[in-house]
Amino acid sequence: MSAMETLEFDNVVIGAGVVGLACAEALSRRYPNESLIVLERHFKFGQEASSHNSEVVHAGIYYTPGTLKARSCVEGKKLLYDFCREHQVPIMNCGKYVVASDDSHIPKLKNIRETAAANGVELEWLESAEATRRVGLELRAALWSPTSGIVDSHVLMERLAHLTESRGGMVLYKHAFHELESVTDTEVSFIACTGDGESMRIRCRRFVNAAGLASARIAEQFRALAGRGDSWQIKPCRGRYFTLASEWTGRYKFLIYPVPDPRGGLGTHLTIDLGLRGRLGPDVDWSRQEEPADLWDLYRFDDNVEELRDQFFEAGSKFLPGLKREHLEPDYVGVRAKLFKNGVAHPEFVIDDLGSHGLHTHLLGIESPGVTSSLALAHLF
Ligand SMILES: Cc1cc2nc3c(=O)[nH]c(=O)nc-3n(C[C@H](O)[C@H](O)[C@H](O)COP(=O)(O)OP(=O)(O)OC[C@H]3O[C@@H](n4cnc5c(N)ncnc54)[C@H](O)[C@@H]3O)c2cc1C
Repeated sequence: MSAMETLEFDNVVIGAGVVGLACAEALSRRYPNESLIVLERHFKFGQEASSHNSEVVHAGIYYTPGTLKARSCVEGKKLLYDFCREHQVPIMNCGKYVVASDDSHIPKLKNIRETAAANGVELEWLESAEATRRVGLELRAALWSPTSGIVDSHVLMERLAHLTESRGGMVLYKHAFHELESVTDTEVSFIACTGDGESMRIRCRRFVNAAGLASARIAEQFRALAGRGDSWQIKPCRGRYFTLASEWTGRYKFLIYPVPDPRGGLGTHLTIDLGLRGRLGPDVDWSRQEEPADLWDLYRFDDNVEELRDQFFEAGSKFLPGLKREHLEPDYVGVRAKLFKNGVAHPEFVIDDLGSHGLHTHLLGIESPGVTSSLALAHLF
């Protein structure tokens, strides 16, 4: 039996989603003379959350002031607009309305306005007549968020990967982190597996875990070895989308959101893509809280399409007058990486280094607004 190959690098990032690639880009810029690899279990970057989301540049109006989620969203938004302009990533500062269609929504709008102000984000309050005129719907009130937008997350990831590679970094596809071997004060050693079932030992000085849905499982291996720290778990929470038929394309040039959904999403909303095609979603589906043996089962659209179409029709009709059931076509499914700390829901972004002072760092619970926040999170390196 031949000895296992050992590879050594200064920096290793696990996961080529938008967060892992942003971290890799930042590391390659900060440490230009050091070696760097990104390990990605799929054949290409961004096959999971980073390509199954709403691609909205969030303004930072919902998140608890002072939290990492709030700070990284507000900071990340600015960095993202600048980065996209500099690197020709398609981005559109289209703005968004959060709408109150009945009086019970007004206190919630006021709360959003206060939260936004505490996060340093300005919103415009629109009374009923002005909201109705500007949005084109019968509304009791609305908030206008001028800094919200839409970004092409695929091109964003492509540019981040390209910048990393142009500085000598590598993205290794079909290579997965498998098992942690040891951690010392200066080195992390682990086993990686290829898609062909080969194994190799990888040693590095700096280890970044940006593995999305799998990030907590990887962090747990480090915690088990260190014998301390909080216990983290991630549960998938699905969000499904329906596309609007072509007659809706171009009708709205901004985003429309209802007040947030108390079950954990921002409420089934209208987003547009860069071609102004409309889309409704995502809903909040907690029905599959365990990761299945075949990951793609989570991303497969459900069999009960007609039932879902009815639900989306009901939600969408509230803010899309003239919508018909047949205008809704099932599209894709996104999977939120919902974080739990010691068994309790923890709706915050966490950067945990288990006291290793940056030798190994775990990015946990990076759900929405992770695309918007990605460059700010990477700035922490
Ligand atoms: C429905 C939905 C809507 C959203 N809408 C928005 C939005 O409008 N705006 C916004 O800012 N954010 C939004 N988000 C959030 C955003 O999509 C995520 O926060 C972001 O994509 C997370 O990026 P990531 O790199 O952490 O995760 P991922 O994109 O999931 O990447 C993790 C990567 O790690 C890899 N990996 C896992 N395990 C291993 C292993 N053992 N070895 C090697 N690689 C591994 C995976 O294959 C994957 O490629 C939304 C999310 C969802 C689910």
